[in-house]
Amino acid sequence: MRKQTVRDIEVRGRRVLVRVDFNVPLEDGRITDDHRIREALTTITYLAEHGAKIILCSHLGRPKGRVDAALRLDQVAERLAALLGRPVRKTADVVGTDAAAAVGAMKPGEVVLLENLRFHAEEEANDPQFARRLAALADVYVNDAFGSAHRAHASTVGVADHLPAVAGFLMEKELTYLGAMLERPTRPFVAILGGKKVSDKIPVIRHLVTKADTLLLGGAMSYTFLQAQGLGIGKSLVEPEMIDLARELMEEARRREVGFELPTDIVVARAPEAGAPRRVVPVDGIPADWFGVDIGPRTRDRFAAIIREAGTVVWNGPMGIFEIEAFAGGTRAVAQAMADAHAVTIVGGGDTASAVDEAGLGERMTHISTGGGASLEFMEGKVLPGVAALDDAAPVGPEDGG
Ligand code: ADP
Ligand code: MG
Repeated sequence: MRKQTVRDIEVRGRRVLVRVDFNVPLEDGRITDDHRIREALTTITYLAEHGAKIILCSHLGRPKGRVDAALRLDQVAERLAALLGRPVRKTADVVGTDAAAAVGAMKPGEVVLLENLRFHAEEEANDPQFARRLAALADVYVNDAFGSAHRAHASTVGVADHLPAVAGFLMEKELTYLGAMLERPTRPFVAILGGKKVSDKIPVIRHLVTKADTLLLGGAMSYTFLQAQGLGIGKSLVEPEMIDLARELMEEARRREVGFELPTDIVVARAPEAGAPRRVVPVDGIPADWFGVDIGPRTRDRFAAIIREAGTVVWNGPMGIFEIEAFAGGTRAVAQAMADAHAVTIVGGGDTASAVDEAGLGERMTHISTGGGASLEFMEGKVLPGVAALDDAAPVGPEDGG
């Protein structure tokens, strides 16, 4: 179901509460990456230009329901003001007297940033009273924090009970790309899955088996599948309790005639460490005391050929221990093949996104999802509570003439 967006509602002169994701990485109290603040600028600028009174709220880190001076949002407000080219008034509290006073004094186009939502335990508990107090600050609610949409918190779900609730542009973009990918992909639809834990990715595979034409598997996760096929995997990472499930999923893929490609050759290393001796072996030749650390060159070529023919490609999870240069080749090859492809290309997952960025290929993907956990749950076919809470758009059908 399509959701209403900021474009569908009147915001002029109204108080608009915007849930953003300003959960930026901090080191020694300094912001080390302001990507998330920059991403929110489109929605904030739109609202400012349309005369809204903009009340921003976000969490930062894990203060666990208590005021933690190191996690106050003052620095975020400063950075935002610099990027936005407008003053940003940071309040001393979230729903207290300072927030109320700041909002009461606002003029159209002005920006207020509330203090860290998670200074209140009621935020994560989705406490109805807290949600009501948050909602009382505003006339309209906008959710632009896709990365938090898989959590039912007061600021992502509770407030939407009390206000008209619509998606911001970032949220809209995520829903458009991820939604279209699952609902009406241009075929062939190829899903590439890798990364560390099979147990994290099983629900994704289970759902994508019903949607995709071909699944390509790499990364640590693939060794559980290889072992399920009876192959020796040496000291590679494996989740023995997932082997039966892995076998079932391969059986399910066969039944549905969905391609299910595992590596045919592997880069193995003496140890999963930089500088360790390494070599390429066929998948049935992994030495007993070596570690599988990347997909081999034949597998890279095979995956690239399949990606070249695809209409849609979604990728979650690196093909190897890409943090170590010597084991990054498979991940880079997949990123390059996607960049060169004609397909709609979508990247999800924090590590996968940073691998793509490090390869300098971010600009060449159709969409890189900002929501790690949220994009995974979306790919599992789950309805995200923060999305469900937003108001549905009017259906557009051939009969209602627009
Ligand atoms: P994402 O964050 O994109 O969802 P994951 O967190 O699932 O991805 O997986 C990323 C991690 O998987 C990386 O830290 C990478 O080193 C690790 N990984 C990939 N392949 C292997 C492997 N063969 N052995 C050990 N770790 C691996
Ligand atoms: Mg990760």
